[in-house]
Amino acid sequence: MATRVAVSDGGNKKTSRVRVAVRLRPYMNKEDEKSEGPCVRGLDSQNLEIINWRNATETVKYHFDVFHGEQTTQQEVFLSSVKPILPHIFNGQNASVFAYGPTGAGKTHTMLGSSEQPGVIPRAVREVFKLVKAKDASDGWDYSIGMSYLEIYNEKVLDLLSPNSQDLPIREDKDKNILIPGLTHMNISKFADFDKHFVPATLNRTTASTKLNQRSSRSHAILLIKVVRTQQQLPHRQQTGKLYLVDLAGSEDNRRTGNQGIRLKESGAINLSLFTLSKVVDSLNSGTSVRVPYRDSKLTRLLQDSLGGSAHSVMITNIAPEYKYYFDTFSALNFAAKSKLIVNKPFTRETVAVVPGEKSTHFFHSSDQSLMDR
Ligand code: ADP
Ligand code: MG
Repeated sequence: MATRVAVSDGGNKKTSRVRVAVRLRPYMNKEDEKSEGPCVRGLDSQNLEIINWRNATETVKYHFDVFHGEQTTQQEVFLSSVKPILPHIFNGQNASVFAYGPTGAGKTHTMLGSSEQPGVIPRAVREVFKLVKAKDASDGWDYSIGMSYLEIYNEKVLDLLSPNSQDLPIREDKDKNILIPGLTHMNISKFADFDKHFVPATLNRTTASTKLNQRSSRSHAILLIKVVRTQQQLPHRQQTGKLYLVDLAGSEDNRRTGNQGIRLKESGAINLSLFTLSKVVDSLNSGTSVRVPYRDSKLTRLLQDSLGGSAHSVMITNIAPEYKYYFDTFSALNFAAKSKLIVNKPFTRETVAVVPGEKSTHFFHSSDQSLMDR
């Protein structure tokens, strides 16, 4: 029987859970010099399988909250993973959406997209303005929208709306709200205002090439959309809801990309923030009462009030199907998976999902570090 091994099953603190979606980008010939074909494929809306490197007659099957296959459109990703959380920021709650995964797997495509295929960020901003418009008339509150845009690079917090900015401090107020004194905040009243500030700022992002990708991003790009609502009548109560939209740095293992010198230093810093993020997500999703290590990196410290707790969080793990991404895909999946198991069945492009009970299976133990260490 195909039984599942629970890696982390949400635990009892339901509101703290980070929803995990996986998006597989389409197979690209140019990413497959040896023409080996894909090594990973989707099975249904929650499951995928990847060939087992130790034994090609086996695949490893993973289970997630949501799986978006290669045919999934930008619209579908937005509708299923992002749109449902947006109303909460109009009630003074916080939310965060992250794109995680190796460089080249589709994070920027998912978050930013292109003018023909706009991603999560432009769609979310349009939706926020749509929601304001729908509310404006009669609910007794006035709404104002603002934006900030920053990056975390080498554990430094840099303001992307202020080109010469220095490393900014992260603070917490008496109500446990996280704030960054000195960070530019722009009021925006329509999508065009957003575009005017966002597009040039995106070009300021620190990028450099690695062996894996010509324009690989080495930093975490963080867009903050803030919704402040004020009661029209006395006592003019005010509530703030924050939405973080984050294009994370590549999760690839830099010991294998041949990075040296400055790159290696960057890699260490990138890994600290990503490693801490993975610990935070793990401890939130396992529902245990262990300390959530928000303070161990800038990224998680900044997101402390918008990840876990009463916040609504979604992590979209992007993966690529070609063999050259194999070990990075494996480690991204092990981070994202709710459960996994090894299925004794050769990987071919033609076969369909395994029939439970028909084939022998054995468990992949999460304590088996050998895959993660590659
Ligand atoms: P990352 O930001 O993770 O490094 P990119 O978003 O830059 O990856 O994607 C790498 C390449 O793959 C880009 O050329 C991008 O346009 C393409 N791509 C990624 N995801 C998809 C997708 N779902 N459909 C079509 N093309 C995609
Ligand atoms: Mg990118």
